[in-house]
Amino acid sequence: MTKLIFTNNGQYPDDKANATTENTSEDAKKEQQEKTKALKAKLSVEFKNIWDICNEDDRIAAYDFAEEYKKFLDIAKTEREAVITVIEAVESLGYEAIDGMEQVKPGDKVYKNIRGKGVVTAVIGSKPLTEGLNLVGAHIDAPRLDLKPIPVYEENDMVFLKTHYYGGIKKYQWAAIPLAIHGVVVLKDGSSVTITVGENADDPVLTITDLLPHLGQEQMSRKANEVIKGEDLNVLIGSLPYPDPEASGRFKLAILQLLNERYGIVEKDLVTAELEIVPAYPARDVGLDASMIGAYAQDDRVCAFTALAATCDLEAPERTSICLLFDKEEIGSEGNTGAQSRLYENFMHELLVKSGGGREPLDHQLMLENSKLLSADVTNAFDPNFASVSDPKNNSYMGKGICLAKYVGSRGKSGTSDANSEFFAEVVRAFEQNNVAWQTGEMGKVDQGGGGTIAKYLANLGMEVIDCGVPVLSMHSPFEITSKIDVYYTYLAYKAFFENIK
Ligand code: MN
Ligand code: MN
Repeated sequence: MTKLIFTNNGQYPDDKANATTENTSEDAKKEQQEKTKALKAKLSVEFKNIWDICNEDDRIAAYDFAEEYKKFLDIAKTEREAVITVIEAVESLGYEAIDGMEQVKPGDKVYKNIRGKGVVTAVIGSKPLTEGLNLVGAHIDAPRLDLKPIPVYEENDMVFLKTHYYGGIKKYQWAAIPLAIHGVVVLKDGSSVTITVGENADDPVLTITDLLPHLGQEQMSRKANEVIKGEDLNVLIGSLPYPDPEASGRFKLAILQLLNERYGIVEKDLVTAELEIVPAYPARDVGLDASMIGAYAQDDRVCAFTALAATCDLEAPERTSICLLFDKEEIGSEGNTGAQSRLYENFMHELLVKSGGGREPLDHQLMLENSKLLSADVTNAFDPNFASVSDPKNNSYMGKGICLAKYVGSRGKSGTSDANSEFFAEVVRAFEQNNVAWQTGEMGKVDQGGGGTIAKYLANLGMEVIDCGVPVLSMHSPFEITSKIDVYYTYLAYKAFFENIK
């Protein structure tokens, strides 16, 4: 039998041969400490708190940026309002609706209104669109309470609105806080009435009542998802009677009369309406140092605002650069305004054709497969009050910048597109070349829960896609918290993406 000889060819060097002779002098000790520190810095990954590493200009810029962002949060509380606000803003920068244009050329700035609930903006690049687009996609819908088709009812001389919640909420968080109503009522003649009550300082607000603790013994022993049940989310909207003591249902009648006088609507119009109940208060600074922002619907207005701000800085990019603002992410990106809708792909096709492409049979497919997209959505910031749900080694933190997530999903990465390593590294390179601090993290421990984003729907078109966004505390609550430095650096990150991804 042939004797096999195994050698390690130096793959596993002998530890002893490398051991340094021990030197007990202080200098040698210090030198070793420095060496270890340098080696650690070179070899290990560590994400630093940006407040520690940024300069004074950046701090000021972050606080200034937050002021504009808070205005956006206050003006755009619903997806429809976000669309109107975004279109107004980009039109003032010279953007035109694509619909009326026969062709587009490099440097043109265009937008498309996606049925009033989604919006897309684009800056046409100098390269043919078949070489690919750079896109950042965020969503502008948020968890809320929608009115049921027949919402108004009266009970015990009070009038309420029945609601059906939209998206993932902790229902108990919606009781005993000031609420506003926003939305549109489309009338039989096709005209529409906009309703917004509860936002101006002298507006009345609405509310959902909660039980006093004195009588709350049974309620307090319920599971948290039953403390306030779905059918308990009834919004108090009035208590004045119609002045005819003989009439039945006169409290409801008084409210219907008020709605009719103020908006010209009748109860039947509410059946076809889209009216949303949202928290009534404005965005506020949080912390004695005002370093954070607290507001409703920062998921995902924070990425929508930063993505839009980054695209609006672009003048003449090489690759056509697009900001996609989707509806319906919170209920699975369904419908013709959600990320699964063809309307967004149709817009890209329209750009292709109007820029002179699309003549070859594969032009559209080439455009999609050469495209690169950041799926811009928030993630959970590590919360020391609820540390047990997260892996502290693999979670994002407040103040450490945009969180890049290779995958999201749940139960063994189900429901995620899982970014390709090549693209992930390319994005990191773009960030780091522009001194944009970033971090990474998963949404909670393995099998703790999880969540999905729009990423997989765009990845299904063949694009390179990765999730990234701002870490948020109290996500999906009526008062979500972000760090001003994270918001600002996310804007810088999207800018670096648009300007550097080839
Ligand atoms: Mn989101
Ligand atoms: Mn969400």
